[in-house]
Amino acid sequence: MKKVVKFGGSSLASAEQFKKVGEIIHADPERRFVVPSAPGKRDADDTKVTDMLYACYDLAEEGKDFKQQLKAIRDRYQEIIDGLELKISLDEEFKVIEKNFKNKAGSNYAASRGEYLNGIIMANYLGFEFVDAADVILFDENGEFNAEVTNVRLRERLEKLPSAVVPGFYGAYADGTVKTFSRGGSDITGSIVARAIKANVYENWTDVSGFLIADPRIIYKPEGIDTITYKELRELAYMGASVLHEDAIFPVRREGIPINIRNTNAPDDNGTWIVESTCQKSKYVITGIAGKKGFCAVNIDKDMMNSEIGFGRKVLQAFEENGISFEHVPSGIDTMTVFVHQDEFMHKEQRVVSAIHRLADPDHIDIEGDFALIAVVGRGMKSTRGTAGRIFSALAHANVNVKMIDQGSSELNIIIGVSNADFETAIKAIYDIFVLMQI
Ligand code: ASP
Repeated sequence: MKKVVKFGGSSLASAEQFKKVGEIIHADPERRFVVPSAPGKRDADDTKVTDMLYACYDLAEEGKDFKQQLKAIRDRYQEIIDGLELKISLDEEFKVIEKNFKNKAGSNYAASRGEYLNGIIMANYLGFEFVDAADVILFDENGEFNAEVTNVRLRERLEKLPSAVVPGFYGAYADGTVKTFSRGGSDITGSIVARAIKANVYENWTDVSGFLIADPRIIYKPEGIDTITYKELRELAYMGASVLHEDAIFPVRREGIPINIRNTNAPDDNGTWIVESTCQKSKYVITGIAGKKGFCAVNIDKDMMNSEIGFGRKVLQAFEENGISFEHVPSGIDTMTVFVHQDEFMHKEQRVVSAIHRLADPDHIDIEGDFALIAVVGRGMKSTRGTAGRIFSALAHANVNVKMIDQGSSELNIIIGVSNADFETAIKAIYDIFVLMQI
């Protein structure tokens, strides 16, 4: 049995946190491959090392003095080294970093040093081998992650090792130039490593005990989710629920490796299991609720639209021509509505409107802003009658006007459009009916 364990920035923000991580790893001999993030915030007012590196590099890029900023970063690491009573020195590493900053090695290189240095400390602390991600995580010439080449290279390198530390967040082009994933990308590295070594589980350790049914900023102490499928998670993550980087699912999903989200500060909690498929019923009919504000509805009317072949394509072409992606397209007999992100659409709306007129010749176009979309997601909905009915009666009782409904035939989710102002009330009403009242 092999486990890949990834630790997020808050789990590695200080020597004290490192010690918790050490205990977690030593508690289970299967935890053999470790992916660390850079040190995160020690408290709410603190700055993540990654952000310190970006800011420091900006100065270097402008040709300004950055010594003080680099020293502050160095101090963060030194504090960890001292707290763990390690005998290593990062002198040489910091000399190289300073030189490379002066030579404008790029912000990707700069940011990657956060994970790189933390990886060196972690390997030393655990007595594991350090494997530089730049040697094993590869990007192609277009900057896309090269999954297959990486998989082979990583497997060859790791299969000979009893244990190893691979820093998260970055890799390199074929010529060795460092490139990072997008922010939070150590989650992706963990997933890539798990795939390469065919791990039994990918444990992702963070500062919460897994996913919650709803956003705790809206619902007071929402319940956690025990098990969620990859598909459900995609739906919720897309709609704003964040714990794990969106792209972290893909590598492990190919191998059917489950992800277990765990809490470094509460290691006995089971956390959330993210699985391909399960016969375990979710505790409630719904698995989770997530949503986002700031959408805009573009209503297009045309008599006899339903019999005009190609009408929908022409309308969508107007959005495509202006580089706008659409979210949902509910339609009626003589009307179709295109939901788009308001901030993206706002500056281009008149160009889109005239393109729709030119391409599709509608009778009338009407734009309505300030919509929120809410996704109610759950594999349990498929086998349960009346879910939609319950949602709408809960919303009616809460005086929320439903402006749009969209349910895919997979019956995995129901998307509801309400006005921005009703967003929180709507989520509370849905949570209450399914979770608190359990009906
Ligand atoms: N340290 C990087 C960030 O802050 C990557 C990560 O933590 O996953 O985004």
